[in-house]
Amino acid sequence: MGKIQMKTPLVEMDGDEMTRILWQMIKEELLLPFIDLKTEYYDLGLEYRNKTDDQVTIDSAEATKKYGVAVKCATITPNAARMTEYNLKEMWKSPNGTIRAALDGTVFRAPIQVKGIEPCVKNWEKPITLARHAYGDVYKNTEIKVPGAGKAELVFTAEDGTEIRETIHEFDGPGILQGIHNTDRSITSFARACFSYALDTKQDLWFATKDTISKKYDHNFKDIFQDIFEKDYKSKFEAAGLEYFYTLIDDAVARVMKTKGGFIWACKNYDGDVMSDMVSSACGSLAMMTSVLVSPDGVYEYEAAHGTVQRHYYKHLEGEETSTNSVATIFAWTGALRKRGELDEIPELMEFADKLEKATLKTIEDGKMTKDLALITSLEDVTVLNSQEFIRAVRETMETF
Ligand code: NAP
Ligand code: MG
Repeated sequence: MGKIQMKTPLVEMDGDEMTRILWQMIKEELLLPFIDLKTEYYDLGLEYRNKTDDQVTIDSAEATKKYGVAVKCATITPNAARMTEYNLKEMWKSPNGTIRAALDGTVFRAPIQVKGIEPCVKNWEKPITLARHAYGDVYKNTEIKVPGAGKAELVFTAEDGTEIRETIHEFDGPGILQGIHNTDRSITSFARACFSYALDTKQDLWFATKDTISKKYDHNFKDIFQDIFEKDYKSKFEAAGLEYFYTLIDDAVARVMKTKGGFIWACKNYDGDVMSDMVSSACGSLAMMTSVLVSPDGVYEYEAAHGTVQRHYYKHLEGEETSTNSVATIFAWTGALRKRGELDEIPELMEFADKLEKATLKTIEDGKMTKDLALITSLEDVTVLNSQEFIRAVRETMETF
């Protein structure tokens, strides 16, 4: 049987440490034997980012805009320790941050559910996809520790010098202050990314804020979502039999617990940070979580939700065996290949992506898994495999289909 042919290259962003090792194994065992893999390769490993003054990250984001689909390996975000470890010229920014800024994207994350690794919330039959707004609010705040009595005001000065001024509080003693913001432009692209992704994945969309308390700030989010929905998406949602549902954040939290799952939950930045950790921990493992960055003009970047698994990499360097879970990285590849297949009308490529995902899940359901899953599975008599053995087991399962 001939290999599957591709038309347009995938933008391939290689990464760091243990995930870089998995990346190579996945390509060799699970992709190259079946696909005439066409990629435009960018090495986002920290060494090469440093060598190119991080230009490679910018180039990879530009290539993603050009081709429309990228697959990314986890990468190191440098900190002080990495400066010495890699002898860096500068503390380069997070590649994910750079790519997200270039694509103006929203990140969608969903647990990969498999028999034997059941969510703690028993009625969650289908994954809940979290869409987190990744700009502004408390993540771009300005804070003051108020030393003592005095008046705090919120002042906006327009370009022409006119002022809007509101009293925040008259302090009679020490306290704290915080200024936060967001922009209509960012909220608009967040909303568009959510509506498009809901249509794309045929799932209902939920959105929740605290607009009863925050009558201008949160209300603005609600209004922008509603306006865009009415104007551009309502008829498309109706045609697809989908629902857009807005409610208060506390009501959403209570309802989510009682649902069967299978929808997208859009959250403001802070809510998304907290709620995605809640959903992923309720589903067992960060290594069982897909993550895709979607830009408002329909560019996709697929990755794993976890990091470079540094602790395992150091063991690997010392020649010790590792049992690192490659499922999320495999699903980053299948997500990207399926999307490429869809855009280029290559049904075999989409079928291959489905088959590889099924083989990955079946391998686990057959009791063959990495250590992180073996620790939490409800299956009995499981075999704990090392990093390489698991990938080979997936290959064997795939060959039985
Ligand atoms: P991490 O790589 O996600 O790993 C944290 C811990 O979670 C691991 O030590 C391991 O626990 C467990 N784990 C995560 N992924 C796993 C997998 N695939 N299989 C098995 N266990 C897994 O986070 P980190 O150690 O905080 O960060 C390491 C580096 O990754 C940092 O330099 C950070 O900048 C980077 N990072 C990158 C991204 C990204 O590119 N998207 C995201 C987050 C972090 P045990 O040690 O208990 O086995
Ligand atoms: Mg968090």
